[in-house]
Amino acid sequence: MLGLMQSQPLLISSLIEFADRHHGDAEVVSRRVEGDIHRYTWSDVATRARQVANALDACKLQFSDRVATLAWNGYRHLELYFGVSGSGRVLHTINPRLHPDQIAWIANHAEDQVLCFDMTFLPLIQAVHAKCGTVKHWVALCDADKLPQDTGIPGLQSYEAWIGAQSKQYHWPEFDENTASSMCYTSGTTGNPKAALYSHRSTLLHAYAAALPDVMCMSARDAVLPVVPMFHVNAWGIPYSAALTGCKLVFPGPALDGKSIYELVEAEGVSYAAGVPTIWQMLLGHMKPNNLKFSTLKRTVIGGSACPPAMIAAFREDYGVEVLHAWGMTEMSPLGTLCTLKNKHLQLPEEEQMKIRLKQGRAIFGVDMKIVDGDGQELPWDGKAYGDLLVRGPWILGEYFKGEGGDPLIKDEQGHGWFPTGDVATIDADGYMQITDRSKDVIKSGGEWISSIEVENIAVAHPAVAMAACIGVKHPKWDERPVVVVKKPGAEVTREELLAFYEGKTAKWQIPDDVVFVDAIPLGATGKMLKTKLRDVLKDYKLPNT
Ligand code: ADP
Repeated sequence: MLGLMQSQPLLISSLIEFADRHHGDAEVVSRRVEGDIHRYTWSDVATRARQVANALDACKLQFSDRVATLAWNGYRHLELYFGVSGSGRVLHTINPRLHPDQIAWIANHAEDQVLCFDMTFLPLIQAVHAKCGTVKHWVALCDADKLPQDTGIPGLQSYEAWIGAQSKQYHWPEFDENTASSMCYTSGTTGNPKAALYSHRSTLLHAYAAALPDVMCMSARDAVLPVVPMFHVNAWGIPYSAALTGCKLVFPGPALDGKSIYELVEAEGVSYAAGVPTIWQMLLGHMKPNNLKFSTLKRTVIGGSACPPAMIAAFREDYGVEVLHAWGMTEMSPLGTLCTLKNKHLQLPEEEQMKIRLKQGRAIFGVDMKIVDGDGQELPWDGKAYGDLLVRGPWILGEYFKGEGGDPLIKDEQGHGWFPTGDVATIDADGYMQITDRSKDVIKSGGEWISSIEVENIAVAHPAVAMAACIGVKHPKWDERPVVVVKKPGAEVTREELLAFYEGKTAKWQIPDDVVFVDAIPLGATGKMLKTKLRDVLKDYKLPNT
């Protein structure tokens, strides 16, 4: 017997219609590429999203055709989020920090028909447009009078002219909620980019879950600053959850330096911000020497790479901001776990609470997780056993776009498919997951594993170290030994001092064999340390005494 409730597909268009009707006057504020601040409301977003949908109809785009963006976090990008997906097309957000050849490769692979780009990326588009054979419409996200002449890009038009001529009325189509809504290519830190293809259903379920109190806790009383980019994993789904909850949205545009972010937080009364650790490093690096404090910021969600304990402590103790550690990945829409305390933890002393906060957190309802050993046997949740982390759920990838890479799932006895995350983790009895490492970054020394994350966390706890990466280097006896690579400027610490700093903080055999100082640690397209490149840079490096 089936239930007798109304069956309505979960569609992204319903989010923007809801935002328009129920909190149409809530603000959306953006720092623009032009440098000024733009402000309008959710009702304006809805109106202009309808114009986007009409513009796509006028371009004769078919259902499920791909519309690409190369854009910062801003209001026009937000309009495309709703206008493209809501009208049944697929929003393909491209990461502009990828190599130009990779961008052209991705645009071709996705068969993008329209490409909308911020003016920052005009030179990039001029360099790659001839290689993007499927793109028929080029749209610059600017006013008509700002469109440069003679760009060499065929038929280039300004976004404002493109949507400006369109009607503000649009009847959002109704279709199967499993229809593709947006796509994002993995950043390729682990090989060729492959695309996760999200659906309306997966996006809406993720939007509900992300807003929950023990997840990102978003409400109509918040002013939310997603520093995490809209060009990678939909800014962790914040644009959708924001439409659902009616919070004020504040977009940083291209200005991601500490000073600009700080000024925006203060000027717009931001209560909650989300980003990767490298961004917050820059923010704290600006605030400390200038003796600045936050007046409205209460919470920040930090994820994408392990958040160093020193950063959690600095936010909490020096600035009174709660840090929520989060873990996820492109293939997971992206949220998997968030670290919030349970009631029983509130009475614990601060250091005990800190130990919990450092973990990547508890699974969100909708994400099922387990750790397995090399034979695929499930390991206990005792906080000690570590193994490969597998996940399943309605917003987790089933297969990659165009079936690239074959079937990625691992079947269990009941025939359920589990997605292997490539991470190695422990899970404790309370369900808190802690990433030990990425399986390819873990250092295998004498048959034991050393967590590169742990080695890095100790290094950055040293006051003179802002960024550190730990990599394994071949060793004739131990197979691999850890070396910690430290960014030089500001690092007024010697090799010997830093190695001595490890004493008593970790097991002796886990202390790195050497410290290498470099001018810069290479960062990937999503702001994470690029260890593949670092290993390349240090390919001729030899461990002392080998
Ligand atoms: P990529 O395309 O590089 O895989 P993702 O953004 O999908 O980019 O990265 C997902 C990976 O990032 C995870 O599998 C994990 O290794 C790492 N990661 C994400 N959040 C955290 C975190 N809080 N702590 C440690 N690692 C994290």
